[in-house]
Amino acid sequence: MIVPVDMLLNRDVSLRGAMSRMNSVGLGVLLLIGENGAFERTVTDGDLRRLILAGAGLDDPLALLPKIDSFVIFAPFTRRDALAMMNRHSINHLPVLNEHRRVVEVLDRREIDEQILLSTPHMGATEMDFIEEAFRTNWIAPLGPNVDAFERDMAKLLGVDHAAALSSGTAAIHLALRLLGVGAGDFVFCSTLTFAASANPIVYQGAQPVFIDSDAESWNMSKRALEAAFAWASGEGWSPKAVIIVNLYGQSADMDPLLEVCGRHGVPVIEDAAESLGALYRGKPSGTFGRLGVLSFNGNKIITTSGGGMLISQDESLIQKAKFLATQARDPAPHYQHSEIGFNYRMSNILAGVGRGQLKVLDERVKARRAVFDFYRRELADTAAIQWMPEPEWSYSSRWLTTCTLDRAHTKVTSTQLVQGLAAEMIEARPLWKPMHLQPVFAGARFFPHGPNAVSDDLFERGVCLPSGSNMSEVALTRVVEQVRRILKRA
Ligand SMILES: *Cc1c(COP(=O)(O)O)cnc(C)c1O
Repeated sequence: MIVPVDMLLNRDVSLRGAMSRMNSVGLGVLLLIGENGAFERTVTDGDLRRLILAGAGLDDPLALLPKIDSFVIFAPFTRRDALAMMNRHSINHLPVLNEHRRVVEVLDRREIDEQILLSTPHMGATEMDFIEEAFRTNWIAPLGPNVDAFERDMAKLLGVDHAAALSSGTAAIHLALRLLGVGAGDFVFCSTLTFAASANPIVYQGAQPVFIDSDAESWNMSKRALEAAFAWASGEGWSPKAVIIVNLYGQSADMDPLLEVCGRHGVPVIEDAAESLGALYRGKPSGTFGRLGVLSFNGNKIITTSGGGMLISQDESLIQKAKFLATQARDPAPHYQHSEIGFNYRMSNILAGVGRGQLKVLDERVKARRAVFDFYRRELADTAAIQWMPEPEWSYSSRWLTTCTLDRAHTKVTSTQLVQGLAAEMIEARPLWKPMHLQPVFAGARFFPHGPNAVSDDLFERGVCLPSGSNMSEVALTRVVEQVRRILKRA
């Protein structure tokens, strides 16, 4: 903050004068300035008290104060370093000095200690009502009226007939694979540029993933790479059991051509729409294009139940079976009887209450996320080094996260440097997902690139996700913009 004039004083000021200033400034600390205008030391309430206890009178000057080395920080500094120093010494205000030891500002812990996170939960007005109803009626189990209503409301909103609320998006993918009969020795094609949760369940089922590159137009699955993978499989005389198409960062993949390829080979599609709830593909809700669609309500997603997921489909028998498998596969018998291996994957009725409340504000959240993107794009329009994730004409993205790539022709700053530079200012940015074919755990898996160079490798190299919460203030957004500008100017 700007230094209040009354905060600066010299050794001629009396104790009485200092106390009166302490009172008017109200920060519990004053700054003693030497004759040459340079900072000398801080003066606290305790310093004044000790002078009086040592016998000083109220009209005696501050000249009596001993010389000490106070804690200061020199410009330029990072927010993270300043906060660490304040924490180390248990102080709430820290003078910032220039190279001539002049005070240029005073840091206030309350301003400094404000972290901007990538994507935080954003509750609406009615979640608590649904939770309270669950408590009042003692529906605390992983079944109940909120679960049923959440499924019904979501299905209606997306225009599908059936939905199963589950404990996570990962559980939904796992069940989807199981429902499609994926088992040991099978292959599943999967987008490479995604979060590991898209691919891990393939391995849970004892099957093997084959990773498919992105195209540059949508950052999502490349039709060309998918066709190359099918050609390879056909050449070897087999076909995959399923294809997992992921919709990244709030944007649908170009579903029509991908569905056409999969349809031609008779292979069902699982649409991983964990990141694209609220988005549209050619005017139709994202997540509704595969045989099965997967949603996630994890804490960082566009709406959240703190943790949860959903499986959606037009096929009633698949969703019935999903609910059966998600509740330990209990046969309809008077005793506990099981003919299949089941899971404990159902959503709790309390969390489904959160989901019902969140669903009411989904539309607002999508608009807010798009407004975050628009803010960044507008405010950084003159920064040639930044290229935003494209939104093809068939796409209405939820802009779950605002993502961009850095253009090497315009900056030497790498995505890692940008992320680290922002972290030093207590702003959480992230690189794009590290592609699955580059992950140590999937080192042995086949990968089909879009062309001679893998598009996903390049996106990972140059890509950054900026803080994008639907509850971000303009002050916070402005802080991100200023820091991005400052860091990109560096090289
Ligand atoms: C978040 C996410 C998941 C997993 O969802 P959870 O609810 O966290 O298990 C799966 N796929 C993608 C692409 C995701 O972003």
